[in-house]
Amino acid sequence: MELYKLTIHELKEKLKRGEISAKELTLEFIKRIERVDKDIHSFITLTKDESLKQAENADNKIKAGKDLPLLGIPLAIKDLICIKGVRTTCGSKILSNYVPPYDATVIKKMREGGAIFLGKLNMDEFAMGSSTETSHFGVTRNPWNLDVIPGGSSGGSAASVSADECAGSLGSDTGGSIRQPASMCGITGLKPTYGRVSRFGLVAFASSLDQIGPMTKDVTDTAILMNVISGRDTLDSTSADVPVPDFTKSLLNNVKGLKIGIPKEYFVEGMDGDVEKSVRDAVELFKKLGAEIKEVSLPHTDYAVSAYYVIAPAEASSNLARYDGVKYGYRTDNSKNLLSMYKKTREEGFGAEVKRRIMLGTYTLSSGYYDAYYLKAQKVRTLIKKDFDDAFKNCDILITPTAPTPAFKIGEKFDNPIQMYLSDIFTISVNLAGVPAISIPCGFSKDGLPIGLQIIGRHFDEETIIRAAYTFERNTDYHQKKPKIRK
Ligand code: GLN
Repeated sequence: MELYKLTIHELKEKLKRGEISAKELTLEFIKRIERVDKDIHSFITLTKDESLKQAENADNKIKAGKDLPLLGIPLAIKDLICIKGVRTTCGSKILSNYVPPYDATVIKKMREGGAIFLGKLNMDEFAMGSSTETSHFGVTRNPWNLDVIPGGSSGGSAASVSADECAGSLGSDTGGSIRQPASMCGITGLKPTYGRVSRFGLVAFASSLDQIGPMTKDVTDTAILMNVISGRDTLDSTSADVPVPDFTKSLLNNVKGLKIGIPKEYFVEGMDGDVEKSVRDAVELFKKLGAEIKEVSLPHTDYAVSAYYVIAPAEASSNLARYDGVKYGYRTDNSKNLLSMYKKTREEGFGAEVKRRIMLGTYTLSSGYYDAYYLKAQKVRTLIKKDFDDAFKNCDILITPTAPTPAFKIGEKFDNPIQMYLSDIFTISVNLAGVPAISIPCGFSKDGLPIGLQIIGRHFDEETIIRAAYTFERNTDYHQKKPKIRK
């Protein structure tokens, strides 16, 4: 049996019943990675010996009758979340030798929950990108078609789950980086409400937008991981003191009477025909299942991408000031004095997209331009948040496409930043407003590439999103389709 194809909840049953051991399972995944990752390149770092030790430890706990939510489950982690003693590169040359001396809070919680970590996953450099092409470690390929991108920036997290190289993964989402690659690789990805999950130990890109979230094979697994990683953390003052429900209680096949809003601004001319059809069919299905569908308006949608590309680079320019060759990571060996050491280190250590963002951000924060750009963008952000508040007065969730197109060819948008930025047009507003949203598989393009459906909820109402997503999943089979991987 191909164990690596199973979901977290299916594997948990097998482990609990003693049909398999965590060590056997971990070895299965390691073999799978060795077979397929030459082509896909999801992983930057594999921690084989450490993973097997963790597996033995899990087996001892299983034998002792322990029941933990992730006991014995092999998972993998986007390479901007710190695991103590494991290199954390952020997809960048500047952190290519950085080994954190501590665990991120999410890692600590998953460890306590019994998880096994297989390794660290590829990503756009510092999570800046939508295709995983800006990684210093090379591109990740989409398991559905090796010539196309897996989405980004959590491309390794999405591809590894889609290619069954791990049972589930963590990604991070600042403007769509969990949902967009989930949609392009045909898996499930949830960006929690801002503040739901601690960011301690997540390398910062844009701190007012970043959130960690699960990327999984189905909605049940998303609920299981959310139960483990959510909650207030004194080490992250922006994590919210809001009670964490048992998300698995929301795995209900029932949307009767649920009010679903369809934002008219998200169905624009020029949208890919296959995407539009799949999303419209999904809406019809919800209607058939008893949901109430209504058109709503998010009038400031058009300004979201512009506001994001002022706010996110502004925060990035200040967050990335710490990489100076002194405290962490790479340092040039080609400098004459302190100033040239700073300059050369940054020139050699950062890639082109990161430099573009640092320059943009520094410019928009500088005196004389701050009011015109940064302050203005923050005002737009407030209006966008208000759009969502208004929409949620009349409906419980919103449904949109996750991305305007299926995955595109490697190289197609690489030299055209504006085109690349537009691939997040449907995901960015959600981060600006701080609300939660999931992407679930809802169809395939004519070329056989996955299409994702985005379900957006109220602040701290991941439960309704999970219920709607689970209902959709129970009444369709897109989530069960697997890519055919050449080996
Ligand atoms: N693609 C967007 C960007 O480049 C979003 C990235 C993200 O969510 N980390 O900024």
